[in-house]
Amino acid sequence: MEEDIVMRLGTFRGGIHPPERKGMTKDCPIRRAALPPVVRIPLVQNAGEPPRFMVSAGQHVRTGEKIAEASGPVSVPLHASISGTITRIENVPVPYGGVGLAAEIEGDGKDERVWGSVAGGDPSALSREEIVARIRDAGVVGLGGAEFPAHFKLSPPPEKKLEWVIINGAECEPFLTADHRLMLEMPGDVIAGTRLIMRAAGVERAFIGIEDNKRDAYETIREASAAMPDITPVLLRVKYPQGAEKQLISAIVKREVPPGGLPADVGVVVQNVGTAVAVWEACSAGKPLVERVITVSGQGVREPANWLVRIGTPFKDIIEQSGGLTPDAAVLIMGGPMMGVAQWTTDVPVVKGTSGIIALPECAASETKPRACLRCGLCLRVCPMGLSPALIRQAAEKGRWDLAEQYGIAECMECGACAYVCTTSKNQIQLYKRAKLELKKRGSHVS
Ligand code: SF4
Ligand code: SF4
Repeated sequence: MEEDIVMRLGTFRGGIHPPERKGMTKDCPIRRAALPPVVRIPLVQNAGEPPRFMVSAGQHVRTGEKIAEASGPVSVPLHASISGTITRIENVPVPYGGVGLAAEIEGDGKDERVWGSVAGGDPSALSREEIVARIRDAGVVGLGGAEFPAHFKLSPPPEKKLEWVIINGAECEPFLTADHRLMLEMPGDVIAGTRLIMRAAGVERAFIGIEDNKRDAYETIREASAAMPDITPVLLRVKYPQGAEKQLISAIVKREVPPGGLPADVGVVVQNVGTAVAVWEACSAGKPLVERVITVSGQGVREPANWLVRIGTPFKDIIEQSGGLTPDAAVLIMGGPMMGVAQWTTDVPVVKGTSGIIALPECAASETKPRACLRCGLCLRVCPMGLSPALIRQAAEKGRWDLAEQYGIAECMECGACAYVCTTSKNQIQLYKRAKLELKKRGSHVS
């Protein structure tokens, strides 16, 4: 099977190929953003149980100091991303939509750090349990956007035997190039993090999946892992959503995660490239997740760039450092344009799951007025989950949530591929979200 993996461009069933628009930033080296004078750190930055704040207004904190503690197995702590004084803990606008509880820190400009002296020792000598503990204590979550606690994926129940680690370097969303730059600029850290993840997962093989539009990153990672036959970079066909977990697993190891199942059900653990770097930094230096690389791009921003930015930095600070918005900028998105979340203010802070900030002019984001379905079947052809989006759409339009469930809406990952090809409606995803919400209210298990 390994020969097969190396010899061909892996891919999955369905999918689309929207314009990539990565040329705006793919050659922009990662720059360190200015230290923000104020950060707002939202409490909820992990999938699972929200942590609990353990600081109060008036308290002085240093960079990397714990400000919230994990509250359960699927929860991670939060850390101050600058040194200074906690000024308030209250609801502020958050990029997931609406408002959420956040700690505001007014910086003292000193950036005094707590890590560097805490870890010590050789990370290659860490036991499996020590790696998992350090990842959890550093607050590492999936940096691709899902914010799923990284340590939890590495601790599946004993009956689920892990066989492979897949590092997700696909970065299939248009505009985003943060992972591309990480692979080019920090290949050693990506590989070192991969090795730690392998040890923590107790597996002997890892694949690093990279889309074919990042050949330079593929070659860089290949060179960095040349002496390691147990780590194999794999070129993937350029297709959206190649970076979704289930599609990546299907593309690389040809296993299908069962409906409602998890990668661990087919012996796989998937972590993002940025997560691998964070794992390395947590285990080698005890560095908590206080910063991340993001792409700022789109036709609505004057100087697109890749930035290393502190968690909690307001979007407007980063946009300003990217030359500001153009006069015709009309839509602001956190994440990629396919699965990202539209924003109503630039006051929202960068969170652990912020892979990018994309600004688009009105013309690039225009909506089609919904019309009746043509039964053309295009959506059926592109759905990577093998669903029938037209049927789900019709059920949801009529408020028949029971039918939408019967047609498999729980499996829909809201990738937007069906909406992209449909000429009669761009509102499918909103309908799907509504249907899932209604089903959840009725006690169904949909995510
Ligand atoms: S949004 Fe859902 S239904 Fe549409 S293509 Fe993606 S997975 Fe399929
Ligand atoms: S692509 Fe649009 S018009 Fe065509 S079958 Fe699907 S929902 Fe109907």
